[in-house]
Amino acid sequence: MGQTKNHYKILGVKKSASFADIKKRYRELAKKHHPDANNGSKKAENNFKIISAAYTILSDKKKRKEYDQTYQRKSQPRRPPGSAWSNPEEEFNFRRERTGQHGDFRQTPPEEEQKFDPEFPTRGFDLQFMIDLPLSTVALGGTLPYSYEKYVKCLDCDGTGSVDENECPACKGKRLVVAPATVEVKIPPGVADRYTLRINNEGGEGKNGGPPGDLLLQVCMQAHPRFKRVKDDVYAEIPISPELAEHGGPLEIETLDSIQTIQVEDGTLTGEELRLPGLGAAILWGKKRGDFVVKFKIEED
Ligand SMILES: [Zn+2]
Repeated sequence: MGQTKNHYKILGVKKSASFADIKKRYRELAKKHHPDANNGSKKAENNFKIISAAYTILSDKKKRKEYDQTYQRKSQPRRPPGSAWSNPEEEFNFRRERTGQHGDFRQTPPEEEQKFDPEFPTRGFDLQFMIDLPLSTVALGGTLPYSYEKYVKCLDCDGTGSVDENECPACKGKRLVVAPATVEVKIPPGVADRYTLRINNEGGEGKNGGPPGDLLLQVCMQAHPRFKRVKDDVYAEIPISPELAEHGGPLEIETLDSIQTIQVEDGTLTGEELRLPGLGAAILWGKKRGDFVVKFKIEED
């Protein structure tokens, strides 16, 4: 596994690609390679991790800049910034590379050497996924179950990698196996689109008694057919008949979480707005809410 993986090549985008292009391409690839879409195939899982790692770097302005600089330099081999997504295979490859580099050996600090001791407790892997959520859940918060896969201790060998002096057939000596997991995710009210939730200790289990990694879920707000969120406010285009626009009158409308009866004024024009205070999205983490803004649109006859 090369130390300077070309994340642009992995995603198949140009170095000058915009964030929108990168996101679009990532979502296409993630869909194609997601283990769930490939009957849990190992190869798909690995591809998915590589793609996710590339996206994690390229979707973050700061990380992308650092990566661009590092990649250009291509100086001494180092662990890629996406190492949080590495899997046991990668870790083993890395170890072989290091022990093969006798010239480098003296430069390796002692604590780093210890990491390659197979008995040394190692922290589990952080896992990052995108979670598609309806606009109302993102705007108002909520709790929902999320299912994924993570590395857990192999029970066949009790995490030792061997059974009766032989390599454990269940984990092939890796001490960990992939298993399904489900967590209850609490979405805080009013989070921004693309906000990353960190769920402590729900990532991969550690090796040799090391602590587990974390689960990182990036919130992706799904487009709503009628509502549009702009920060704490939610806009809704409401069609009204020409008669109602001309003479005015009551109208029942649906907001994020309620049904309201509003008064349409006589002589209302397309594009006119009516603000319903406190019925929009939650203002981050709190109980206060923004406005629900009705935008009238007069229907054609
Ligand atoms: Zn095992």
